[in-house]
Amino acid sequence: MPELPEVEHLRRSLDPWLVGAQLLDVRLARKSVVTLDSGERRNNSNFRVALGVGDSVVGTDRRGKQMAIAFTSGRFLVVQLGMTGSVTIERDKPPRGVEARHRHVVWECRSTAGPIDSFAWRLVFRDPRRFGGLTAFRSREALDGAWSKLGPDALNITESALLHALSHTRRPIKSALLDQSVLAGVGNIYADESLHAAQIHPLAVASALTAPRVAALASELRRILGHATEAGGSTLRDYRDAFGRPGNAVQKHAAYGREGQPCLRCGVALFGLRLQGRATVFCPRCQDLST
Ligand SMILES: [Zn+2]
Repeated sequence: MPELPEVEHLRRSLDPWLVGAQLLDVRLARKSVVTLDSGERRNNSNFRVALGVGDSVVGTDRRGKQMAIAFTSGRFLVVQLGMTGSVTIERDKPPRGVEARHRHVVWECRSTAGPIDSFAWRLVFRDPRRFGGLTAFRSREALDGAWSKLGPDALNITESALLHALSHTRRPIKSALLDQSVLAGVGNIYADESLHAAQIHPLAVASALTAPRVAALASELRRILGHATEAGGSTLRDYRDAFGRPGNAVQKHAAYGREGQPCLRCGVALFGLRLQGRATVFCPRCQDLST
């Protein structure tokens, strides 16, 4: 499942194309992947407006695993990749065979500035398993209303923001990290990785962690998520960047997926347990339960 680094890497790879682009037309093959803003009727003209037809892109934004495309009109379109979603730039003929399936939304675009001046291309939203989707917002206020349900973004999380976010929950720290309303953008991989790096036990009580330990966790979250973003996300099977390229395989995990293997810090065999149904790997020596 794509996590924050994959979404941020995708956003950065789309930006040079999207920002300033005009969306000339759209082919919406599956209406169910689009959620309109509250009160907007699901008719063709509203779908076209929501998908930015006749509009231009002024920028992109992200909170956690959600990416927003901002239009000149003041509207926003939020992209969620779910498990198998992708957004790609297409310059050649559309693909055939299996790649031609599940292309739910295809935009006809034109760049109006920069190195790709007056150049026609397509933007494609594809999602075979359809856990992702597109959500339209009429205004920044409407988007902020939706995003206010998410915690602060994990990529640049500060010690004070993390301390505040964790202060309200007595759940295990790993459960708190996975809760998008506490902290936005951390999934199973990077929860295990950041806790291992900060030497915090996944079952430690979130609100009981002292300020220095929360500071260490915030610092490791920024470092690990930053690295993974630079590397083009993880080695996820389904992840593709804007040009259909998979993530860089250089990303090595220290804890995630390494149950029974030696801890890279102390050599003791890593432990596995299940927490809320999620595989959880930690070092029984380095990651103590004390707060
Ligand atoms: Zn260890």
